[in-house]
Amino acid sequence: MRLGMWLKLACVGSDAFLFKRDKPVVGSIILTDRCNLSCRHCAVGNSTGLVYPHAEIRSEMRKLLSDGVRILFFYGGEPFLWEDEGVTLGDLVAEAKGMGFLLVNVVTNGTFPLDLPEADLLLVSLDGGRESHNAIRGDTYDRVLGNVRCAPTGNICLYMAVNRINKGDIGEVCRTAKRLRNVKAVSFNFHTPYPGTEDLKLDREEKRACCERIGELMDQGFPVLNLRSAFGQIADNSFPTPCRRCVVLENGREWVCGRCIDIDGLCRECGYFFAAEFSLLFSGHWKVVMDMVRTYARYI
Ligand code: SF4
Ligand code: SF4
Repeated sequence: MRLGMWLKLACVGSDAFLFKRDKPVVGSIILTDRCNLSCRHCAVGNSTGLVYPHAEIRSEMRKLLSDGVRILFFYGGEPFLWEDEGVTLGDLVAEAKGMGFLLVNVVTNGTFPLDLPEADLLLVSLDGGRESHNAIRGDTYDRVLGNVRCAPTGNICLYMAVNRINKGDIGEVCRTAKRLRNVKAVSFNFHTPYPGTEDLKLDREEKRACCERIGELMDQGFPVLNLRSAFGQIADNSFPTPCRRCVVLENGREWVCGRCIDIDGLCRECGYFFAAEFSLLFSGHWKVVMDMVRTYARYI
C-alpha cells in the first residue's frame, strides 16, 4: 500500500521534473481563518472569522486534482475548528484520500485532541521549549504536549518556526521529538517577516548558524524532516521564488506558492523551507531530489 503510494508519487515527481511543466504538484486549501490563538508572529488568523463550506472545499479539491496536484495540505486558522453540517476534518481528509490525493497533511496548533488517523502527517506547531513557545503562542505548551502524548496514532511531526525569540531552542525541540513516541520528526521554517512582525526575523548569519545547528542535530541522529542539501540557499535566501509547483486556494481565490506572494518584497525574505525545497527540486537540483527521496521515505 505504502510502496504503491510512493511509486505513484515518484511518477508525478518525475513527470514534473523531467518535462519541466509548470504544473502544480503541492496544493494547500485554507479551511477557515478562524483560530483560538493569537500568536505573536501570525499574519493570517481571524482576519474574517469565516469557516468555508464543505461544498466549496470539495470543489477546490477537485480543481487541484484535475490540475495535477497529488500532495494536499489543509491549513487554517486552526483546521480543527472546521466542521460543516456534521462533516468533520477527519471526513474531509478521508474524502481527499478517496478522491486520489496521495499524501494528505494537516497543519495544526495542537491545542485540540490530535485524533486524526486519516492524515498522513499532522504538523503540530511547537515553537521551542515551554518559555519561548508560550511567549510566542500564549500559555499552550503543556496542552500541546499533552495532546501529542495522548494521540492515538504516530503520524505527528513537530513544526517549528524559528525566530528571534526561540532560535536557541532548536535542540530542545529535537530532543522533545525524539522523546515522544507519537512523533516522527521535526520540520523547521524560519520566520517570514510579514508586515508588523519584522522584529522577529533572523538575519543571514543567524539563519546560517541555525542551519548549522540543525545539521549537527541530524548528524547526532535526531529526526528532521527537512533537506540539508537546501540549507545553504535557505539561509542565504538564494533559492528561486516563488515556487510555481505549489498553489494555495482559499474561498475561491488561488495563489501561486503562498498567499504571501501579494506582499511586496516578502519572497526575498521567505522563511518557508518547503518553498525552497520544492523550487530547488523542480529547478533540477539532483542533490535535493536524492535528499527528498531519502528523507520523505524515512519519515512519511
Ligand atoms: S495558531 Fe496559526 S493561525 Fe492561529 S494565531 Fe497562531 S499562527 Fe495564527
Ligand atoms: S516564496 Fe512563496 S512562501 Fe515564500 S514568501 Fe514568497 S509566496 Fe510566500
